[in-house]
Amino acid sequence: MRFISTRGETPALGFSEAVATGLAPDGGLYLPERMPDFSGDLRRWEGMDYASLCFEFMRVFATDIPEDTLRRLVAASYSRFTDPAIAPLRPLAQGLYVLELWHGPTLAFKDFALQLLGNLYAHQCATRRESINVLGATSGDTGAAAIHGLIGRPGTAIFILYPDGRVSPLQERQMACTGADNVFAVAIDGTFDDAQAALKEVFADQGFRTRLRLSAVNSINLARVLAQCVYYLHAWLRLPETERGNVEFVVPTGNFGNVLAGWMLQRMGVPIRGFRVATNQNDILYRLFTTGEYRVGEVRPSLAPSMDIQVASNFERFLYFSEGRDPARVRAVMAEFKRTGACRFPRFDRDIFSASRTDDREIAEIIARVHRQHGYVADPHTACGFKDLNPDRVNVVLSTASPAKFPDTIRSAIGVEPTHPSLEALKSRPIVKHRLHATPDTIRAFIDARAV
Ligand SMILES: *Cc1c(COP(=O)(O)O)cnc(C)c1O
Repeated sequence: MRFISTRGETPALGFSEAVATGLAPDGGLYLPERMPDFSGDLRRWEGMDYASLCFEFMRVFATDIPEDTLRRLVAASYSRFTDPAIAPLRPLAQGLYVLELWHGPTLAFKDFALQLLGNLYAHQCATRRESINVLGATSGDTGAAAIHGLIGRPGTAIFILYPDGRVSPLQERQMACTGADNVFAVAIDGTFDDAQAALKEVFADQGFRTRLRLSAVNSINLARVLAQCVYYLHAWLRLPETERGNVEFVVPTGNFGNVLAGWMLQRMGVPIRGFRVATNQNDILYRLFTTGEYRVGEVRPSLAPSMDIQVASNFERFLYFSEGRDPARVRAVMAEFKRTGACRFPRFDRDIFSASRTDDREIAEIIARVHRQHGYVADPHTACGFKDLNPDRVNVVLSTASPAKFPDTIRSAIGVEPTHPSLEALKSRPIVKHRLHATPDTIRAFIDARAV
């Protein structure tokens, strides 16, 4: 299988190259050059365990990795999850389920993609006999998940920049208490935007980038989207047959990456009825799906911080399909968006996509209500998914983080503080972080001295 750019001005690549490249040189995002049809495989996949199913799915795309190697990489990626089902589907009421995606090492759904990406990177280092230095900026979950994907792996080092004092104490501990000597938690004086801006300049230095074989952690990597298709498939196969055709996945969303994965799976022949795009008060996607206008707004910090995003970077992949797979149209729309901060789309298929928006007051109310009605504790991101569910469909709410990551919000909503053994263990370990000024020179020098 080969992978093409949404902007159509760069050659198609094989899987491993597309994963290593990340953002396409023409500024576009990679997509499979054709969508496989899995409708004939669903019977055979019935009851398969998570890692086997993931291998069956990925082998269709990762055709340049030998099958036994791929099977091993996939198995390793899900070996550090603590629930035997990997992504357990819990029934809460008639026609209502939660799909728990937080049993991986950092207790958030990003582990599904970043554990696999870490294994793919490590495999590339080994086969090419090259080292790789991974660099990213984070406001929380992504950095921690990326670190735990590469922790202790030979031939790799990872540098994660975050705003000092502005990520939650538990998130900081997940990054800074690893004890691994290939992990560098870099606390920047300034905001997330300052960290991001410094990082951009470091990447813009082509000479430095090539010499150190720098690779970016971001949400647009092809492997992340494909890895995320698998939990939708796994959940669909675990629903009673009578409910499968009427399922609506409800997805707490920031960058659109998670919803996009489900929607792509639907296009690959899995009969999913619909998707609910659930945003917090940073509602660019809610506005898009209800009014047809995509317009950037100000980011306002919320109780669901991993969804505090106003430009949905994965949206371009969806755009490619909605513009009839025409890269020239994609380029025109993206150029208009860049120039004016907005663009309009024809009406979406309301039967497939619906949207909701949940502000902070409602998040607290929903956490209390779901606890009262179902005895279930939802984290603030998951809580956004419980708003205005469609009563005519079987709802599967994706639970994207463990409530134990947000003890303060949960305590004030239900009076009980959730805990998790892996977070408790972190509290007694020393924090090792490197405080730096957010200037490109300082960051370059720091990386240069520690890169592999
Ligand atoms: C990253 C994240 C999200 C948003 O995911 P997208 O792929 O950006 O839509 C939601 N919940 C949690 C807990 C996250 O970490």
